Amino acid sequence: MDDIKDLTKKYILNTYNRFDLVFEKGDGVWLFTDKEEKFLDMASGIAVSALGYNNKRLINSLSAQLPKLLHTSNYFYNIPSAKLAEKLIENTTFSKVFFCNSGAEANEGAIKFARKYGHSISEKKYNIITLKDSFHGRTITALSATGQTKYQKGFEPMTPGFDYATPNDIKDLEDKFNDTIAALIVEPIQGEAGVIPLNKDFLKRARELCDKYNSLLIYDEVQTGVGRTGKLFAYQHFLPIEPDAITVAKGLAAGLPIGCFMVKDKYKNVLVPGEHASTFGGNPLSATAALTELDIMLTEGFFEQLLEKSQFFIEELSKLKEKFPKMILDIRGIGFLIGVEFSKPAREIISHLINNNVIAIPAGDNTIRFIPPLVIKGAELKIAINTLEKILQEIT
Ligand SMILES: *Cc1c(COP(=O)(O)O)cnc(C)c1O
Repeated sequence: MDDIKDLTKKYILNTYNRFDLVFEKGDGVWLFTDKEEKFLDMASGIAVSALGYNNKRLINSLSAQLPKLLHTSNYFYNIPSAKLAEKLIENTTFSKVFFCNSGAEANEGAIKFARKYGHSISEKKYNIITLKDSFHGRTITALSATGQTKYQKGFEPMTPGFDYATPNDIKDLEDKFNDTIAALIVEPIQGEAGVIPLNKDFLKRARELCDKYNSLLIYDEVQTGVGRTGKLFAYQHFLPIEPDAITVAKGLAAGLPIGCFMVKDKYKNVLVPGEHASTFGGNPLSATAALTELDIMLTEGFFEQLLEKSQFFIEELSKLKEKFPKMILDIRGIGFLIGVEFSKPAREIISHLINNNVIAIPAGDNTIRFIPPLVIKGAELKIAINTLEKILQEIT
């Protein structure tokens, strides 16, 4: 099916650097190309396919919803989105959710929410601090929030009102805060930047500064959320520090498009009817997928098993680091959001992995992100380790 690549090149705008594979189907943690070649998926379609592929429970619930209803709009109520909202709120510190369709859209909504909140205090309180090397999405304002000029270049002017602090630099954050700050938005673990976790002292000070200046602390959990780090949301690793709101997308609906932001009870009336909307938001099919996924994740023992498997994987990676100290420089992350920093360009290592039937994706220039489906088994992780070892032997 070379024509698929040709069709893509001929008709789809050339905005992606694609690897040379056409995937046709998947099963468990395995992806199959149009030529029936089998690949171990250590990327989950960028932290999306948490249940892997062809999950029977998911297919059953979606099959039951399909003939019923796909869409009605938010002029009316629908059953799956109400039930999903209940499930999200009952398992978090938040009290209300807004549904949309992607990470960028979730962040756009949260930024509007923050501006509206700021304006309720003072007309000058609209500025937002984010972090250098952050990633918040590709729409103009989400891009303005993103602290990486390489993504902004050519698309100026950016939305005004954003300033960028250095991650884990408390002094810099203190210098940037003042009464005009409506919100600080951070990824608790910076994903795109190379899997860089924020430390607890930094988040603690961030919380204090937000309290002092009446600013909102918002976590972008688009990548870290929904079980990826071994807890339902990454903020739960940093308790008692809590954000005022979080944004979520990627892994929330097991592969269907969805996004949301959730806010604490205090802020439930910041946005009022008519101030924010999304035609597809709360879509019954995506909400059904999310509900089924959450049911699976919230089953007794799911996260314990995930953390055990993740610990095994990190230990195996650490052994490789000892064996190849010149090649592997660092291992970072938690749960199944793991970054391995190499002394070589990430894309080079990834090409070798793909040539050996393992899919992984980069984060930053020299880091590979291992973000497998959360249901991956120990034996499958071992295949990834063995493959990486073989490659390191060959290229050292
Ligand atoms: C992927 C990502 C986004 C953007 O999500 P899209 O669904 O691609 O718009 C935003 N923030 C973080 C932290 C992400 O990882």
